[in-house]
Amino acid sequence: MSSYYIWTIGCQMNKADSADLAARLDDLGFIPAETVDEADVVVVNSCVVRQSAENRVLAKLDSLARPKRLRPEMTIALMGCMVGPEADELMRRFPHVDAFVSPGRASELVEIASRRPVDRIVVHEAPSRPPCAYVTVIEGCDNFCSYCIVPYRRGRERSREMKEVLLQLEELVAGGVREVTLLGQNVNSYGHDLPGGPDLADLLGEVNAVSGLERIRFLTSHPKDMSDRLIQAVGSLSKVCEVVSLPVQAGDDDVLRAMGRGYTSRFYRELVERMRDEIPGVALSTDVVVGFPGETDEQYRRTLDLLSGVRFDSLHIAAYSPRPGTAAAETLEDSVPLSVKKARLREAEELQRGIAAEINGRLLGHSVEVLVEGEKQGKWHGRTRTGKLVFFRQDADCLGQLVDVRITKTSPWSLQGDVSRHRHEG
Ligand code: SF4
Repeated sequence: MSSYYIWTIGCQMNKADSADLAARLDDLGFIPAETVDEADVVVVNSCVVRQSAENRVLAKLDSLARPKRLRPEMTIALMGCMVGPEADELMRRFPHVDAFVSPGRASELVEIASRRPVDRIVVHEAPSRPPCAYVTVIEGCDNFCSYCIVPYRRGRERSREMKEVLLQLEELVAGGVREVTLLGQNVNSYGHDLPGGPDLADLLGEVNAVSGLERIRFLTSHPKDMSDRLIQAVGSLSKVCEVVSLPVQAGDDDVLRAMGRGYTSRFYRELVERMRDEIPGVALSTDVVVGFPGETDEQYRRTLDLLSGVRFDSLHIAAYSPRPGTAAAETLEDSVPLSVKKARLREAEELQRGIAAEINGRLLGHSVEVLVEGEKQGKWHGRTRTGKLVFFRQDADCLGQLVDVRITKTSPWSLQGDVSRHRHEG
């Protein structure tokens, strides 16, 4: 029996692609390996959105040269955003890599893997399936934000037919999945390219009716595509969790314009107000880039103002790094020194730490519903509907169950508590 090992870095789309690939390999009789040394097929699922991610992929690929020398029969494949239309340079640089597969072409990778002779040993039992799954509903992005490589690597937006998504969901639920996250780089523009033009609100309505499913999330939304109809759907559909990921990127209008984001800071703040009116208790997360070309201290302060004004539940901050081929990299000088970018990043993180500590602190003593996702070192963990990570101790196996946990300790990043009630088997 052959075994596989998948190394993944980057966004949820990459994680979903890896999970999808793993499921297809499982169906073919492959077995997951715990390390590269135990695997017949090694897949590196890459990300180049940031320089730091790219560096880690390059280091991973370099580290595979030795195992390949020792076991030339192993198959090494690189997939994901690093594989652009031109793979010649990659092929030269990594002669030990057998296959280069661009995003969304996982089926070809399955075919490459399945051509292998059947051999090897059973490495370990397949792990039990987690209760949460990611399902890509729209690929690619049409937005061409000036700093972003995604549209060049993942192509234009392509929505999956609603019935195809629903079929996949029913299969997942039959296999034990209780929570689904619908994915797209720009998920809230779902459907505009399909006949009849359904939108994400329509899709959420259909998914909400899938019996056996408990929770629905969706990632990542572009502020300009966050329609009132969608906001109302999130507020009214019982299974759709009250959590929205809404990257703002910057708080200054000139920076937003140079980024090509298509909205102003005021538009964003008003959108947040509408969402908070329509979706009681909504948790918001956002992404911010600091040190965009030409960003002055005053402009950066407007980002801080926005963060303290909106008070997000969670925040992902990145220092700008130019991605070759993007408009910003080609036309704008990367003028903010690295030391300034790092200082801005640290300051924004510090601000967010205080905000998240205060928001999470309000949950102390309250009971929250948690879908249990796994166990590590004697502690179970899962998430609230609003996406907060909760740890608790319990002897009995409760994977995939919905439990009520009374919160006894909070931090900016996670919560701890005691089980107060098991709702029902998931
Ligand atoms: S919306 Fe902008 S930042 Fe997001 S994937 Fe598309 S181009 Fe990139």
